[in-house]
Amino acid sequence: MKTLKFQLLLLMLLVSVPVFTQQKFAIVIHGGAGVMSKEKMSEQLQAEYKAKLTEALNLGEKMLIDGAAAADVVVKVIKVLEDSPLFNAGKGAVFTHDGKVELDASVMDGKTLKAGAIAGVRDIKNPINAARAVMDHSEHVFLSGKGASEFARKQGLEIVPNKYFHTKQRKESLKQLLKKERERSSKDNMGTVGCVVLDAHGNIFAGTSTGGMNNKRYGRIGDTPIIGAGTYADNKTCAVSCTGHGEYFIRLSFARDIAALMEYKNLSVAEACKSEIAKLDELKGTGGVIALDNNGNIAMEFNTSGMFRGFAKSTGEKEVAIFK
Ligand code: ASP
Repeated sequence: MKTLKFQLLLLMLLVSVPVFTQQKFAIVIHGGAGVMSKEKMSEQLQAEYKAKLTEALNLGEKMLIDGAAAADVVVKVIKVLEDSPLFNAGKGAVFTHDGKVELDASVMDGKTLKAGAIAGVRDIKNPINAARAVMDHSEHVFLSGKGASEFARKQGLEIVPNKYFHTKQRKESLKQLLKKERERSSKDNMGTVGCVVLDAHGNIFAGTSTGGMNNKRYGRIGDTPIIGAGTYADNKTCAVSCTGHGEYFIRLSFARDIAALMEYKNLSVAEACKSEIAKLDELKGTGGVIALDNNGNIAMEFNTSGMFRGFAKSTGEKEVAIFK
């Protein structure tokens, strides 16, 4: 009897595991686009970036093999990048003109077209969790500032003092900008993070998180928390996460436009991303985008000298890269 039970259990395991491993899945991540050069970035720093991107990618890949939902994967993967001081999201985000850190994030579910976003928050440890909570536990899509923090607190999310986000490098970089009296440079903002996923159940999901532009002021909000600008997902077409000079991405409705090009013009996800980057070029904007469709085809396009990026697919293909 015991052996029969054991054999049955073994059979069930053998049948259930391939259900997920055989299904198509794909994950693409970015850690920001901007001006970067192989010569100027030390090998040590390149290795650190690649190691963190790989850690995030491996986590996402493992979750997808285990059959996790795209939403859970995107949020967990982005949390890894937010917790790393290397990126301009969560810990290590850029400073505002007033020497504070203000964070933006958003998520969108391709199956339901539900979305959640927060902007200008100063004390939520993981903004991506707050964006998800807005989507799942509020009747709204977009919360900002103190209200967003109050909501996050009520949701039981971790609240931290603004100092938690501060790093020496970002402080120094603000100092330099203030000296030059410049608002920003695409080098100093680098490090917004994003993730798009197709899960083994055929659903797609997108998320993006950022500290925004270095030396920003007047409550400036970029594209990252704006659904249709920095983030978009629709099972019919694609999931998109953007990085770059947010004002241009807002003006172009960048992320939604990629989905529209696929929906109305039948472009592939790669063609749609290339076409949208060409529009960014025309306006002299800079940045990059990651996207994938409901079939696991992916795109990673940018018009800067580099974009921290990586992808993994159920086919076993996997890559992490920084420069063009
Ligand atoms: N897109 C972000 C913003 O404008 C910044 C970035 O991705 O580098 O706030």
